[in-house]
Amino acid sequence: MKQNYRNLTVAILGAGTVGAQVAHRLLTHRAEHASRIGAELDVVGIAVRSLDSKRSVDLPAELLTTDAESLVVGADIVVELMGGIEPAKTLILRALESGADVITANKALLAAHGPELFDAADKVGAQLYYEAAVAGAIPIIRPLRDSLAGDHVNRILGIVNGTTNFILDLMDSEGQSMEQALATATDLGYAEADPTADIEGFDAAQKASLLAQLAFHTAVDVEQVYREGITKITLDQVRQARSQGSVVKLLAICERVAGPDGPGVSVRVHPTLVPDTHPLASVRGANNAVFVEAEAAGSLMFYGAGAGGPETASAVLGDIVSAARRHVVGGPGVAESTHANLPMVDPGHIDTSYHVWLEVADRPGVLAEIAQVFAAKDVSVETVQQSLTPDANGGPPTATLVIQTHRAPGESLDAVVNTLQSSDAVTRVSGVIRVEGE
Ligand code: NAP
Repeated sequence: MKQNYRNLTVAILGAGTVGAQVAHRLLTHRAEHASRIGAELDVVGIAVRSLDSKRSVDLPAELLTTDAESLVVGADIVVELMGGIEPAKTLILRALESGADVITANKALLAAHGPELFDAADKVGAQLYYEAAVAGAIPIIRPLRDSLAGDHVNRILGIVNGTTNFILDLMDSEGQSMEQALATATDLGYAEADPTADIEGFDAAQKASLLAQLAFHTAVDVEQVYREGITKITLDQVRQARSQGSVVKLLAICERVAGPDGPGVSVRVHPTLVPDTHPLASVRGANNAVFVEAEAAGSLMFYGAGAGGPETASAVLGDIVSAARRHVVGGPGVAESTHANLPMVDPGHIDTSYHVWLEVADRPGVLAEIAQVFAAKDVSVETVQQSLTPDANGGPPTATLVIQTHRAPGESLDAVVNTLQSSDAVTRVSGVIRVEGE
């Protein structure tokens, strides 16, 4: 591209796992970026908490500063890679007010305060880009916003949390228990010292809310996202799923549904049985994938690294180049739109099929009693598998039933589980997992 535009200034907030890589690539790939943009990018400063922190790459000492407040004012592009809510939110608002375009990878901030930040960007005609906030290196925000803008997205099934996929994959492929797999994930740096945000599904719920908002043009408050983590998944369940041709995945599911009052949206995160023939079943280790079903395009799968410094930096750099190009060619930023304003539909109204694990009394008539409970709530049973586990202390064996249902509303299944929990025939309802992707 012919270069005829003034140099653009870039301020970076954060030089950690992602920020250091972004800064490094901006400084070392300057000519390449300039030829794509039509202007050179000058990194004017990198805000950090401490000037003495260890960096993954060498960065010019004169660029590092602890004065983030001054750095954000006057830059053409501000790149927020600090994480957390504050001071990131205030700094982004200040940058937008001062006329900068903002790039962020901060899903927690966008999930909690997205509408306020997008409004602020809209008011001044600036861009707020966040490709790296969902699924790391994988391009999914721009495909949803731009490439599929003329289509009608019906459903998104996403493996958007690498830590939980790594744990579930280890259970499936190496027979590790949940505790062993979590310990392995921690040792290898895939899980944080406090893994709650990952294993309880909070991180995936934040990403689900961002995906749903974009795909369905509807504001989705992260608090409205139904969320179930993976901590109750057992090795027996993973093995039994595999024996029946399925794998357990933590899915973020965003779909258009028929609600009780008309069309709506369901956004939920929960462990899910995925048939091993579905493309998502082959997503191994800490990788991410987003499977999109659109009216005209059909099924699309976006796959790759969901985290990591250089990988996530790739997505951030793509946003920086896009924002810089707009400076060069002019025109307003692309605003986020929530025009469809669809209501959120409660999971109780969503139809799925289920696998229900029951520990039951080993006596005649039990199966009939249990079948009766399902029938009474209009939940049709597709298959029943029974197994006996010998008691380690020589007592009577434990009988386990795995009941696979046809599709039924969540509220009917909940009613079945409540009745089973107080039934004499059932010792314990040891698991309920939804099935998707059939
Ligand atoms: P990180 O390694 O913890 O780095 C955070 C950086 O921000 C550090 O350089 C830190 O300074 C600086 N910082 C924190 N608070 C600050 C403050 N109050 N003032 C000035 N500087 C401050 O974080 P990260 O992993 O790079 O993640 C950055 C963002 O990217 C987060 O929003 C995260 O969710 C998102 N993200 C990360 C990944 C990934 O793979 N890591 C993937 C996708 C999205 P010091 O170095 O001096 O401590």
